[in-house]
Amino acid sequence: NDFKDTTNTNPVRSPKKSHVDSKWGDTTPYASKKIVQSWVQLPDGNWELGTTIRTFDNESLLVLDEGKVLKVKTETLVPANPDILVGVDDLMQLSYLNEPSVLYNLQYRYNQDMIYTKAGPVLVAINPFKKVPLYGNDYIEAYKRKSVQNPHVYAITDTAMREMIRDEVNQSIIISGESGAGKTETAKIAMQYLAALGGGSGIEYEILKTNPILEAFGNAKTLRNDNSSRFGKLIEIHFSETGKISGAKIQTFLLEKSRVVQCSEGERSYHVFYQLCAGAPPTLREKLHLKSAAEFKYLSQSNCYTISGVDDAEQFRVVTEALDIVHVKKEDQERVFAMLAAVLWLGNVSFTVVDGENHVEPVLDEGLTNVATLLGCNVEELKLALSTRKMRVGKRNDTIVQKLTLAQAVDTRDALAKSIYSCLFDWLVEQINKSLAVGKRRTGRSISILDIYGFESFERNSFEQFSINYANERLQQHFNRHLFKLEQEEYIQDGIDWAKVDFEDNQDCLNLFEKKPLGLQSLLDEESTFPNGTDLSFANKLKQHLDSNPCFRGERGKAFTVRHYAGEVRYETTGFLEKNRDLLHVDTIQLLSSCTCHLPQAFASSLLNQSDKPVVGALHKSGGADSQKLSVTTKFKGQLFLLMQRLENTTPHFIRCIKPNNFQSPGTYNQGLVLQQLRCCGVLEVVRISRSGFPTRMSHQKFARRYGFLLLDHVASQDPLSVSVAILHQFNILPEMYQVGYTKLFFRTGQIGVLEDTRNHTL
Ligand code: ADP
Ligand code: MG
Repeated sequence: NDFKDTTNTNPVRSPKKSHVDSKWGDTTPYASKKIVQSWVQLPDGNWELGTTIRTFDNESLLVLDEGKVLKVKTETLVPANPDILVGVDDLMQLSYLNEPSVLYNLQYRYNQDMIYTKAGPVLVAINPFKKVPLYGNDYIEAYKRKSVQNPHVYAITDTAMREMIRDEVNQSIIISGESGAGKTETAKIAMQYLAALGGGSGIEYEILKTNPILEAFGNAKTLRNDNSSRFGKLIEIHFSETGKISGAKIQTFLLEKSRVVQCSEGERSYHVFYQLCAGAPPTLREKLHLKSAAEFKYLSQSNCYTISGVDDAEQFRVVTEALDIVHVKKEDQERVFAMLAAVLWLGNVSFTVVDGENHVEPVLDEGLTNVATLLGCNVEELKLALSTRKMRVGKRNDTIVQKLTLAQAVDTRDALAKSIYSCLFDWLVEQINKSLAVGKRRTGRSISILDIYGFESFERNSFEQFSINYANERLQQHFNRHLFKLEQEEYIQDGIDWAKVDFEDNQDCLNLFEKKPLGLQSLLDEESTFPNGTDLSFANKLKQHLDSNPCFRGERGKAFTVRHYAGEVRYETTGFLEKNRDLLHVDTIQLLSSCTCHLPQAFASSLLNQSDKPVVGALHKSGGADSQKLSVTTKFKGQLFLLMQRLENTTPHFIRCIKPNNFQSPGTYNQGLVLQQLRCCGVLEVVRISRSGFPTRMSHQKFARRYGFLLLDHVASQDPLSVSVAILHQFNILPEMYQVGYTKLFFRTGQIGVLEDTRNHTL
């Protein structure tokens, strides 16, 4: 066993703790001494350490590390921490909690592959973009035994596990960060730890195998991340009385459907398409009429087929093996692959003009016939579904058949491809859930891991970013609520003397989205129901009603800007209405239900059964059904509210993933980029607040019950408060380190450790 704690190279001894009296942290221990080192900001925006050699008037003369001498305004200097505090594993320990000190501390650790750092209760993880020697059984064992103390995903997962058992409360691990920051990898690392601790029944193996499946069908190469998740995921892992995994349930959010039919230069569609084209064995290739990826239009449009370091053919084998493990039968697997091939061939269906009014019909070539064969439908019916639309007109609701123009036909074809793919994705998740279904020995105790797209702000932002960023506002509020609001409220309720700390509240921005009838979402839904509504009329309506809102700014043309907690984002309304309506024509559903193959039929019935699925066309059950259609926005909001409700009932643990550079390359630490992310996710605020507060708390009863037996002297009164106070005295807990509230005891960070250690040794 060659396990060594290589990360324990950190030069820090136990930090001094004392009261905090300035915005940037504790100045007491050093205020009396001369500050020897300061941070100075160079013209490129980066911070460097400098030593002041002379000060005159308002200016200081500094020597930088490499000997350069610089004259700067004294007031622009920011105090640096003493050497002893370089590389601390919790930012709370820094004496000066200014931005350059935090940045440097993280960078110092990052350079030594210590990618994890605590920021009070939050774990900060900086993406190493390379293999780091921090994982595997030896490390898992070490964290389980608690023989290593360094911040780690394992440590936070271990805490969640222990708190679930100790407090009998469900737990959640909420992972956030920008695209490519490492959320999905972090979620997998947490799952590995849970599997190792709670394994035994074999179900943990199945749970881990859901990752390659969901990644194949829901991840794609984007410009930001070669393995970018294009859906949000919550996995709820259930435990038995004895702390063993008894099952799991996966919920997914908002799969990016548009990628199936359209993706930009240099990006890819979903991995599984390339895996199938590269890895399908000869018999399957023949059966599905497969060709190479380059011969399918949906895949060739972005001129990107491979990912460096990834063998798609090999991945295909990994995915089929994983499907075996989660009990998707071989014949169902083949059905799944047939649907993928049908989608690919749909993309190759082309159209030709057939009359003087620019109406089109699909060309009868191998594309069309292959789609018909793979779906198990009649070629003529497929042709009609792709080139006509049944409509009801007039007072008598007569059905007429409208012929489609090229643009309409292409939209119909793409809509069919997107529906098949998203139904397939949902179907797979359902199969996985059946296989992982929580057994009879359930306790109702669970740990949920949330891996959801982070805040996005691009050159062009559309409906997808609008939805994603809204979700992030909600999650941010949950974070704020948990860490700040609840904290303050609890102190006040329990009569604790605690100076209020201001924090950024994002309620205004949430109101801008959610308010009825004049919020972004209501106005979008309203405009989406108007037959004549357009993206422009939507944009104008926003300007008309929301221009006085401080979180909103109307822009020229069809755009608007929202002031999010993480910064301003300008949205282009082009495509908003169509994406929000997400209409599926009844002709398409009819086509699917006419198919002889099992899966298209299942898709058709699930599309019809979803009361929230808007269906338009001739076969509307009744005219009144329109009012029950749910828009994508409303549906997503509903999903999100349910998610938030579930999370509210758990003890949350937060992991903030940080991307150190935009090139997915190891060893490069871009200070500006990191700082912007730290600001976005409120890491600095958290540290400031946690440090000045009393984050550990326990009711008098619980405290007395837990540690009472350690008392050496007899206590006259046996009431929990008296017992608690006696314990505090016996252990010499300093008065400034705790407060006694009406119902609870409050401790500064780390204070309860001595008690726990003694208790564990005594037990
Ligand atoms: P996100 O889900 O936040 O978009 P990912 O989790 O997919 O980001 O991470 C992007 C890439 O970064 C991964 O494919 C992997 O190459 C690298 N990466 C992330 N976390 C780690 C880690 N802990 N160790 C090594 N590489 C990592
Ligand atoms: Mg991801």
